[in-house]
Amino acid sequence: MTPGERREALEAPAHTPASRAAALEAPAHTPASRAAALEAIAAEVHVCTRCRLHAGRTHAVPGEGHPDTEVVFVGEGPGLNEDRQGRPFVGRAGDLLVRFLATIGWRREEVFITNIVKCRPPDNRDPEPDEVAACLPYLQRQLQVLDPALVVTLGRHSMGRFIPGARIGQAHGTLHPVDPATGAGSAMVYAMYHPAAALRAPDVERQSYDDAAGIPAALLEARRRRGASDAAVPPAPAPAAAAGPTTAGASPADAFPTPSPDAGPADPALDAPTFF
Ligand code: URA
Ligand code: SF4
Repeated sequence: MTPGERREALEAPAHTPASRAAALEAPAHTPASRAAALEAIAAEVHVCTRCRLHAGRTHAVPGEGHPDTEVVFVGEGPGLNEDRQGRPFVGRAGDLLVRFLATIGWRREEVFITNIVKCRPPDNRDPEPDEVAACLPYLQRQLQVLDPALVVTLGRHSMGRFIPGARIGQAHGTLHPVDPATGAGSAMVYAMYHPAAALRAPDVERQSYDDAAGIPAALLEARRRRGASDAAVPPAPAPAAAAGPTTAGASPADAFPTPSPDAGPADPALDAPTFF
């Protein structure tokens, strides 16, 4: 089975009135038009001067990956190596991200990787709120085009955009619904620590490997919920395997712990990101 065939086999065959209306409202992307739309956004980012970060950049870093993927990773902003190369996550943090992906049999080319801000903040400082606000429309548009099933946030800043008010120490390794205003209207979000934090602290690194092991199950769950809402079926309660200690204030319907790494999906063909 090719990724495309696998994707088709997984897709709900019939439209309901609600899903048909939604499909008519959404721009109908083909793989070619999706790639073109992402390139058009990247071209705008490369010449953008909407915030002060443009002044210090060598290269803007729009993001990269498979245009037809189901999974988007969102970091914070380019660092030194990313600024030099114009590509996301190509330094030591990127190498570690690639190792996390390798443990679940995924490659970076199979997903889309981008950041909250597309230009490097000086000395890798945190992006300022006005810089984040200026840059967010690009991420929003990328997510509208990609329409992922799963967004994986890397670090607190990215998580804060998708799960407002969450604390990384509690939210890492858990799956949450996404506010459609982010652009990822039918996605779930899975929070991870930033790989740079894992480079600094062995316990964060160990935890990050555990969290990475939960990504395939998170994708399956995100896909299941998306299929359920496409078919206008109310979301099912969290599966028994996911019933465990919930984070404070979380209800089973909107947040649940990720199944443990060894409780992965039975069919390995189903737990890789598939392409539209
Ligand atoms: N850290 C990030 O948040 N993004 C990158 O692209 C690289 C490092
Ligand atoms: Fe434009 Fe974003 Fe770069 Fe600011 S960080 S100049 S908004 S692309």
